Amino acid sequence: MAFLRCTGCDGVFDADRPLHTCPECDSLLEVRYGELPALDLSDPSPESVWRYRDHLPVEPLVTLDEGGTPLYSAEGLAEWVGLENLHVKHEGMNPTGSFKDRGMTVGVSKALQLGVPRIACASTGNTSAAMAAYGARAGVDSYVLLPAGKVALGKVSQALIHGARVVAVRGNFDDALRLVREVCSSDEMYLLNSVNPFRLEGQKTVAFESVSELGKAPDRFVFPVGNAGNISAAFKGLREWLDLGMIEELPRMTGVQTEGARPLVDAYESGADDVTPETDPETLATAIRIGNPVNGRRALQAIRESGGTALAVTDDETVEAQRKLASLEGIGAEPASAASVAGLKKMVERGVVETDETVVCVATGNLLKDPEEAVEVSPAPVETAAELGAVKHAVGL
Ligand SMILES: *Cc1c(COP(=O)(O)O)cnc(C)c1O
Ligand SMILES: [Zn+2]
Repeated sequence: MAFLRCTGCDGVFDADRPLHTCPECDSLLEVRYGELPALDLSDPSPESVWRYRDHLPVEPLVTLDEGGTPLYSAEGLAEWVGLENLHVKHEGMNPTGSFKDRGMTVGVSKALQLGVPRIACASTGNTSAAMAAYGARAGVDSYVLLPAGKVALGKVSQALIHGARVVAVRGNFDDALRLVREVCSSDEMYLLNSVNPFRLEGQKTVAFESVSELGKAPDRFVFPVGNAGNISAAFKGLREWLDLGMIEELPRMTGVQTEGARPLVDAYESGADDVTPETDPETLATAIRIGNPVNGRRALQAIRESGGTALAVTDDETVEAQRKLASLEGIGAEPASAASVAGLKKMVERGVVETDETVVCVATGNLLKDPEEAVEVSPAPVETAAELGAVKHAVGL
């Protein structure tokens, strides 16, 4: 049986209360289980979030067949990065094009079980796209707060067409999150940001699938970090599997941010145990343009406990990695996703990552989320007359 435990005061609460944070001390809550059964990974059922339902806290009341994303062996990219054994888990292949779907199938299922009439989130884009789609499928009303003018086109279009009420806040993501947390302080509106412990339970399945597909735990996971929910969720799942003896060692959890939004990296480098917020985060990787990561403390624990690391890359390095993913592997990923690959390359260059490590890079979101950026960083099409000679010349014949 699942229950909620406070990460601050260790208080224990019933999982059927619609809580967003600890009613005693306002810290984040975590889902805990009385006892988890060890799973038999040789069972041939296909990968998906709900393959792991015995390790999840709700029944699948709403699903779009999320998870089961490809884990590509990436030889060309491995060579570029300087590794022997690199895999890319392409989370952009989820139903709405990002890993957020893993969390939303569980989070919105919980909302249905609780019977709440409305769901809400603040978002740099992908959370709103996923929540709007799952809200539509579940038949509940969705409310989304976005930082005005700072959300990639594909993501806004999804939130709108799936029928969410979209509010563009003249501020950044951190402002939007602060506001939506206040809006959700009553029982009327259920908050689905990564403060929501049920949503994070769904997101741990990216680690489960990777282990299952590799037949063992990788030596390292590399995640782009915004609010730091995903890296924390994956680590939580891996700890659960370590306790069950399903894996032998914890993979090194590695977080990558960009130079313009690097509060977690600064905290890691200074040895702090919590993050000092940055006030003006700026990066072309809009999905991780976050100055005050709510799961920062947990992510720091995950990184330190597993012997991982955190580092920052420039926007230019991010774009270069995005183009390499696309041109060497056929993997279309949005900029934030590619930051993980850019960070990995830097770590190999610095000797932080051994060349024989088995590494899983998580490509968090699909290229089509941000088509404007992709066009901007690519060579322009060659325009010709509608005439054979001109076309032959253009293709070099
Ligand atoms: C949400 C998101 C992230 C950041 O994940 P966090 O859990 O907030 O750290 C990274 N990349 C993409 C594409 C995202 O949508
Ligand atoms: Zn508490």
